[in-house]
Amino acid sequence: MSPRPVVQALPAYRPGRNPADLAREIGVARAVKLASNEVAFPPLPAVVEAVTAAAGQTNRYPDNGAVVLTQALADRYGVDPAQVATGCGAVTLCQELAQAYNDPGTSIAFAWRSFEMYPLLAQVAGARAIQVPLVAGRPGGPADTHDLQGLCAALDDSTRLVFVCNPNNPTGTAVRRAELEQFLDAVPQQTLVVLDEAYREFVTDPAVPDGIELMRGRPNVAVLRTFSKAWGLAGLRVGYLVAEDPAVAEAVRRTHVPFSVSMLAQAAAVAALASEEVVRARCAAVVAERDRLTAALRDRGFDVADSQANFVWLPVGEEAAGLAAALEARAVITRPFAGEGVRVTVGTPEEDDVFLAALDDVRSATTVR
Ligand SMILES: *Cc1c(COP(=O)(O)O)cnc(C)c1O
Repeated sequence: MSPRPVVQALPAYRPGRNPADLAREIGVARAVKLASNEVAFPPLPAVVEAVTAAAGQTNRYPDNGAVVLTQALADRYGVDPAQVATGCGAVTLCQELAQAYNDPGTSIAFAWRSFEMYPLLAQVAGARAIQVPLVAGRPGGPADTHDLQGLCAALDDSTRLVFVCNPNNPTGTAVRRAELEQFLDAVPQQTLVVLDEAYREFVTDPAVPDGIELMRGRPNVAVLRTFSKAWGLAGLRVGYLVAEDPAVAEAVRRTHVPFSVSMLAQAAAVAALASEEVVRARCAAVVAERDRLTAALRDRGFDVADSQANFVWLPVGEEAAGLAAALEARAVITRPFAGEGVRVTVGTPEEDDVFLAALDDVRSATTVR
């Protein structure tokens, strides 16, 4: 008895370092985790209240249609509830999209390097992954970003989905309105464009479009968003899809893993939406800290591009794994991409100062950059 070959070929799950374990292991009071792009703020007070109240009803199944949350999202974005689907995190919505649109032998296109989930979901769906390299950045200039023309040219009759991660994880770069509109105009109608906007709330460049506005009048466009990042609900698992064509949301609902958005997650998301002003203020603080961190890294000679997300990208190439290991030995957990770079989540000013001090220590101890 053996699993499907594509499943055997999947990488085994490797848990990230837990900061408490790391701190104990290296004998320091506290380790700093800047690896998963969470926000450092505690859950919103309204969220804690809503989750506490909902806890008393957890002997019951959640609402499988997430009716209250779906309506709240529809109101928030000025769309019909039929255009919205919720999921157990945006990653589950990615899987549900592939299940809804990809027969074996079809394909899924995306830029690379981008969100790690995309190649895996293609593999599990038995779909071919069409990977189009990012346009290489240049030192002192723009960082690696989407090659939208190349991505469009790579689509073929078999392509059911094309993901555009905007801003891109892990480079933090974003594509702007004119080039994205040109791309959407050129993509064939039988291919669904999925704008993955997990980091939308951190975008400050006015030329970077809001996908939900951009999708209007374009039935082959859908937008993915999540409560895990700006809204601070990573531990509860809830994300959503907004599609111009209700048939897209309906297809995702048909492949929905039943009851996978828990009662607590639904209650928390509704409460978070009602606290949007607090969330906006928190995002503004993250953005201010992102700018400070970016400047501090540039002062140290790192070639850091402007990020539109809540993380920064250090394109250190072959030094990535070594640098992350050296930082970890100094109680700072980052996210290395071997041979490419290190992604560092914007933390609190205190956390980022610990990171910068660790970085200085690494560089004075070695010849890393
Ligand atoms: C974090 C992230 C998501 C969402 O993750 P969930 O926690 O599953 O909602 C989606 N796309 C990208 C690019 C991300 O970085």
